[in-house]
Amino acid sequence: MNQQPKGTHDILPYDSYKWQYIEDKARQIAHRFGAFEIRTPIFEYTEVFLRNIGEGTDIVSKEMYTFLDKGERSITLKPEGTAAVVRSFVQNNLNAQGLPQKLYYITPIFRYENPQKGRYRQHHQFGVEYFGSSDHYMDFEVVYLAYMFLADLGLQGISLKLNSIGCPICRPRYIDALQAFINDNIDVFCEQCKVRQNKNPLRVLDCKIVKCKETLKNSPSISDYICDECKFHQSELVKLLEYAKISYSLDPNIVRGLDYYNRTVFEFVADSPSLGNQGTVCGGGRYDNLVENMGGKPINCVGFGMGIERLMAIMEEQGLSFGQSTMPTVSIVYASIAELDDCIQLATELRKHISVDMDFTGKSMKSQLKRADKVLSKYALIIGSQEKENGTVTIKSLSNGVQSCVNLVQFLDNPNAFLL
Ligand code: ATP
Ligand code: MG
Repeated sequence: MNQQPKGTHDILPYDSYKWQYIEDKARQIAHRFGAFEIRTPIFEYTEVFLRNIGEGTDIVSKEMYTFLDKGERSITLKPEGTAAVVRSFVQNNLNAQGLPQKLYYITPIFRYENPQKGRYRQHHQFGVEYFGSSDHYMDFEVVYLAYMFLADLGLQGISLKLNSIGCPICRPRYIDALQAFINDNIDVFCEQCKVRQNKNPLRVLDCKIVKCKETLKNSPSISDYICDECKFHQSELVKLLEYAKISYSLDPNIVRGLDYYNRTVFEFVADSPSLGNQGTVCGGGRYDNLVENMGGKPINCVGFGMGIERLMAIMEEQGLSFGQSTMPTVSIVYASIAELDDCIQLATELRKHISVDMDFTGKSMKSQLKRADKVLSKYALIIGSQEKENGTVTIKSLSNGVQSCVNLVQFLDNPNAFLL
């Protein structure tokens, strides 16, 4: 039997309204903050990700879908949103439009992972990237946007974890101290952490293995090492969060899996029984050097990526509403084949104004009405021999069963007046 590739999912017709609901909310929130949508290709030259995400990261070291195209160019399916957006920002000289700039995207993301609940090979992210300010105000807006989105969906029990990973000036001192700590406890760490310790010790803090996590509780804290400017940046951001009544916790173990971050990093984490380690719904932070590294001017940035599948799983778990599938408004029902042509004409007229479903395959009235319920129509418009003869249509409310017979010409003149 043909099957979809492991770790991917079809979004089926009876579920797609949930996606539309979340995507609509994402757009509404982004627009409320003055962010514009950017759409980049689903694949890029591998270089875009290889050089900018960082060679020691999980994504680059083992998760990318990379292949040679027919022209022998190395291509990679988008494994995260930021590098692609920055590539486009630089290439299209978007900073000429003025700074700061606020962009958002909703995109599929591809990572070769071990599939489990909340971890797939194709998932989807809502992401936001702000360009053009080194001030904590920009960090605040981005965090606040993510917070408002989660609140708008009605999610409960999501906590914001915040950290500063310093800057290129103060971070090396911390890395030395962390490396010394790991060395002193090397036997306790997993094999992967032993490798990470040499390549990029910060990444050890990102390890999901319980024993490593436990040991790290006693490791030196980055907050004791960051410089005064980084400290100031963080304390000003925290003041704004407190002003906005957003609760947060400072968590020195949040480092984020990507190389390009500096200063602010944050995650929104759900306490979800079914998602476990996959409870992180959003990850983001400040990246001040990426635009320049990709050939642009030095432009400071902050952004986040939010996993839509994980959001959806938590919404289901918490019994939250995804709105209602709103299509179609009416179903047209014919009593017999003799009225089919009239009904087709009625549907054609009505579709200029409202959404209409109709089964045109000659089924019985009973099964047409069953279908009307199934597709969540609000009304059935019934035409039988009487209606045909009298130039009328019977409107039946599918919520309370109330019926009325109205003049067809009048109805077509202003259908919405009859469908209250
Ligand atoms: P994790 O630590 O769980 O692997 P990550 O740090 O790799 O996450 P990011 O690169 O920050 O994740 O991606 C942003 C968000 O996208 C995550 O917080 C998560 O909600 C979602 N996400 C990441 N990878 C996957 C995946 N394989 N399947 C589903 N959602 C994912
Ligand atoms: Mg990951």
